[in-house]
Order: sequence, then structure tokens, then C-alpha cells
Amino acid sequence: MSLIEKRRKTRQISVGNVKVGSDSPISVQSMTNTQTQDVQATVKQILALEKAGCEIIRVAVPDMEAALAIEKIKQKISIPVIADIHFDYRLAIASAKAGVDALRINPGNIGEQKKIKAVVDCAKEHKISIRIGVNAGSLEKNIEKRFGITAKAMKESALINIKILEDLDFHDIKVSLKASDVSRTVQAYRLLAPKTDVPFHIGVTEAGGLYAGIAKSAIGIGMLLAEGLGDTMRVSLTRDPVEEIRTGFEILRALGIRSRGPELISCPTCGRCKIDLFKIAHDTEKALLERSSKIKVAIMGCAVNGPGEAKEADIGIAGGDGKGILFKKGKVIRKIDQDKLVEQLLMEIDNIENEKSGDI
Ligand code: SF4
Repeated sequence: MSLIEKRRKTRQISVGNVKVGSDSPISVQSMTNTQTQDVQATVKQILALEKAGCEIIRVAVPDMEAALAIEKIKQKISIPVIADIHFDYRLAIASAKAGVDALRINPGNIGEQKKIKAVVDCAKEHKISIRIGVNAGSLEKNIEKRFGITAKAMKESALINIKILEDLDFHDIKVSLKASDVSRTVQAYRLLAPKTDVPFHIGVTEAGGLYAGIAKSAIGIGMLLAEGLGDTMRVSLTRDPVEEIRTGFEILRALGIRSRGPELISCPTCGRCKIDLFKIAHDTEKALLERSSKIKVAIMGCAVNGPGEAKEADIGIAGGDGKGILFKKGKVIRKIDQDKLVEQLLMEIDNIENEKSGDI
């Protein structure tokens, strides 16, 4: 059951073939950390991200070489690409000409009106959308002076930037309001939500390494989604971006919004556990990452409580002394030697997946 009571009503925009906003699924996106002009490395990373479920990818465009590389990158990947531009409007135009699907800019740091108009005209011509990326760390000077680096300042900056584009009759806009702390981020989106119907790209920026990053993202993104705010999301981690995608889908799964691939539940182990459950859980998790079925798998430490505690799982294993048991929906099926547990479990999962897809 979803925790979301009511999703905020927004306009719908397109990022390539992915719809964002209104009733379209909340998409999960990431950003490459390769040098964009290194086409081979960038394509390799995007293909790995696609495999993990990434639906939109953003690439940094710090110079003309990177902008021009977009054309070659797009030929080898399937998901839409957003060009991340700061300051130089010519890079936005070059990216659009290279076939990018959307731009991420902050009109406030593009400068003069005629430069912004050139970008907007180009976006209209190429039918691409624009994300206004407001960041607490780079607010317009006058706004920062008036409101400080606050959620209110972020909201004001977003409204000004939305107006700049809408005054040029450009409406294919989404907006992000990012700060590195959860409370300002959440507050900024809450303040902006009643003021516009522009879809929201949500996330907590510079969230940190694995533990802080996942905790801050899960809380920040989770709170917003639970309030019905957010149409596309990026988890920001100082890690392989594939981890961002996995975390993104786990946040959506935990909220009952969307799921992707098998769900793994596992017990923390306690004094009753007599097998190396951490390794078994790790090996199983790794194997399940390659699969896309919606099966629920349990890895439990003991046969006494495990199957009962994981009754709702489609299939699971529970550890015994040197052996383990295989159970389906809480019912024990057979005993298996410890060293064959993962292998046999995966075979059984294959069978269930085949049954579900009607192959046998
Ligand atoms: S399933 Fe067994 S080993 Fe795992 S936490 Fe529960 S009682 Fe302990």
C-alpha cells in the first residue's frame, strides 16, 4: 500500500521519451561522473546505469568538447540525456544541436536576457525541456542578501527563474531546489508547491558518502514523496552512480510507490544463527540485482523463527546447523547443505520466475 495520500497536480513535460509530472510514474535519474568528452567511458557508465533501471541521465557539459560528445553518446544509449550547463549559454545551444533531450540551467547564472532568450529559442526549436536547478550554494546575490541562504530564498529564486522562462512563452519546465541539509530542502519544496504547477525534480544535494547519503536522501526524498511532492528524483551519493539508482528504487519501493526487481528481506541475525548469513545474503543480493521479476525473497538466520517471520515472502531460506531449509510462503519445502543454499535458492527463483512468465 502506498503511503502517499495525494500527489500534487502538475503540468506534464517530456525529457525525451520519458514523461515527467502529472500522473506519469516518478522517474529515477542519475548523473554520470565520467569526463563527458570521453565518449567510451561515458557510454559504458550509462549502459550500466540503464541496466540498473536508470530512466534519465544527466551529463556535465563544462566545455564545447563535452557538448559535441553528446551526439556520439546518444547513438549508443537508449535513455534520454540532460545537459548540465552553468554560465555559458553557448554550451546549452551546442548541446541542443547535438541532440540532447533536456537542459539543466539556472537562468539567473546565464546572464543577460538576450542569452537566455537564445537558449529558450533553441529549446523551443529542438522541442526540449529545461530544468531550473536552484541550489542553496549558488543563489542570486540579491536574493541571498534579502533572504539569506534559506528555504524562502530558494523558493524566491525558483519563482523568479520560472517567470523568466514563462515570460518568453516557454513552459516545458521542471524545477529542483537543492540544499545539502534535509530540512531546508524539504521546506523549500513545501513553500514552492502552492505557487506553481511546474513538476519537481527532488533530491538532497551533496548528501554525502554511503551512510549519510542514503539516510539523508531517504528521509528528504521520502518526506517529500509522502507529501505528494516530487515527479522525478535523483539520489546523490559520492559513489558509483549505479548505487544512486538502486537507492532511488528502494526509496520508492519502501513508500509503496514503484518497485523494480526482486525484493530481498533478511534478518539481522542473532545468537540463534549458526550459518554465515551475511555472506549468503550478500551473494543472493548480488545475484538478484541482475533480475527484474517482482518476487519477494527472504534470507533468515534460523529455522525456528525464520520461515514464520518471513511468511509473506514468495521464497526464502533459513539457516540451521550446517544445513539450511528452503521455504515458500512460510512453509518448509526441503533441507539443503549450507554450501548449496544460494545456488538452490536461485534455481527455485528461476522456476518461480518461469512459472510467472508462463514459460513452463
Ligand atoms: S530469524 Fe532467527 S536468527 Fe534471524 S533474527 Fe530472527 S531469531 Fe535471530
